[in-house]
Amino acid sequence: MSMDSRVSLVIPVYNEEANLEELVARCVATCERLGRPYEIVLVDDGSRDSSEQKIVAAAAKHRGRVVGVLLNRNYGQHSAIMAGFAEATGDIIVTLDADLQNPPEEIPRLLEKIDAGCDVVGSVRVNRRDSLLRTMPSLLINKMVRQVTGVTMRDYGCMLRAYKREIVFAMLQCNERSTFIPVLANTFARTTGEVEVQHAERSAGTSKYSPWRLVNLLFDLTTCTTTFPLRVLSVVGVLISMAGFAFAALLFALRLYYGPKWAVEGTFTLFAILFIFVGAQFIGMGLLGEYIGRIYVDVRARPRYFVAKVVGRMRGGEVTEPAAPISAPAVTGGRREALATTAAGG
Ligand code: UDP
Ligand code: MG
Repeated sequence: MSMDSRVSLVIPVYNEEANLEELVARCVATCERLGRPYEIVLVDDGSRDSSEQKIVAAAAKHRGRVVGVLLNRNYGQHSAIMAGFAEATGDIIVTLDADLQNPPEEIPRLLEKIDAGCDVVGSVRVNRRDSLLRTMPSLLINKMVRQVTGVTMRDYGCMLRAYKREIVFAMLQCNERSTFIPVLANTFARTTGEVEVQHAERSAGTSKYSPWRLVNLLFDLTTCTTTFPLRVLSVVGVLISMAGFAFAALLFALRLYYGPKWAVEGTFTLFAILFIFVGAQFIGMGLLGEYIGRIYVDVRARPRYFVAKVVGRMRGGEVTEPAAPISAPAVTGGRREALATTAAGG
């Protein structure tokens, strides 16, 4: 990436009226210092306060620099970011929160890493300023994602992140509705980097993540990364059903050996039959799980692979030059009708 590569900031906004003016001012100031072309894409995620008007005003004030994407209702942080991605035109795309917990002044350090060749750069919050109730679930989430994806990133929750355009395009090709962007990005990245950033307290307003929304997020995260729980269901199901059958057989044998008195006049026999049914149910459930897992993977229709460039192909008797760093993906392995127009427009 060179110094004339364009930078897009993508910022989801939900009821952040108290932060917007400072946010825009600080982002513009930081971007001006970058010495590169830039744009700031503010996505209003159906705010109920005056955020929308503030975004419209900012877009008018910084014409050509600030772009507002106004969603008709609240779709959640990650969907809002996706909407911003579809609108962003930069070669490097940076996401951050609107609540100024991620200082925009750290952006140049992320860009340095991208310039050094990383596809995705995350950030780690040193001195995190959140309540215990908010940090504990994050700890759990980080640990789980690390286990599941095998990509070592220390802090998945911190949304101050930079992506190369190709990665963002790849993410836009993913058709699933529930996404967790940092994890999704890592499934397409070859090299990732991390920088440590300061974490400020929320400058105004309150966290939009209630414990219940965090539970939702956790489930989104699990299901978007893996069908492992379904596999666990079938394995555990088979184990339980085998135990059930064995126990049923044992009860029958003991009934024959010790007689009806021991089996409390048929009660134990009834239990034995019950265990057989329970076992059969678990096998059935596990089998369903296996099919659902495959359906899920297919329905999601993520691009199967992602070609960065093709070299040595003969065209009109000449070997084509390897392309300059691509600005749009040439080929993806999956369906591409959905966002083909966006890709072409970007
Ligand atoms: N956000 C959003 N839609 C939502 C919830 C949050 O666009 O439904 C935005 C919010 O305005 C902020 C960012 O996502 O810019 C992170 O939200 P928040 O600061 O509440 O989360 P936390 O810092 O507690 O993780
Ligand atoms: Mg926050």
